[in-house]
Amino acid sequence: MTVPDQQSATRTDPVQTEVLIIGSGPAGASAALFLSTLGVDNVMVTKHR
Ligand SMILES: Cc1cc2nc3c(=O)[nH]c(=O)nc-3n(C[C@H](O)[C@H](O)[C@H](O)COP(=O)(O)OP(=O)(O)OC[C@H]3O[C@@H](n4cnc5c(N)ncnc54)[C@H](O)[C@@H]3O)c2cc1C
Repeated sequence: MTVPDQQSATRTDPVQTEVLIIGSGPAGASAALFLSTLGVDNVMVTKHR
């Protein structure tokens, strides 16, 4: 699993991924972890509060 760096929170360059997960609540975080354990490329985005 790739750990995003600090800049990932504000990156604006295009990103390619197999799965885009919107929202980092329990459902999103679980999906990201599950997909990552299966080796499925995924990106999780969430809004700032
Ligand atoms: C006051 C309160 C107390 C609670 N107490 C408990 C408890 O004690 N025990 C318990 O088991 N459950 C509790 N719950 C329920 C628990 O919080 C939810 O069941 C759980 O958070 C749902 O997870 P989720 O991933 O589906 O959604 P959420 O946790 O709501 O996550 C959704 C995520 O998506 C993000 N998001 C939303 N819209 C967008 C958008 N347009 N673009 C990008 N990102 C977005 C949000 O910022 C958030 O990070 C409580 C809920 C509340 C409101």
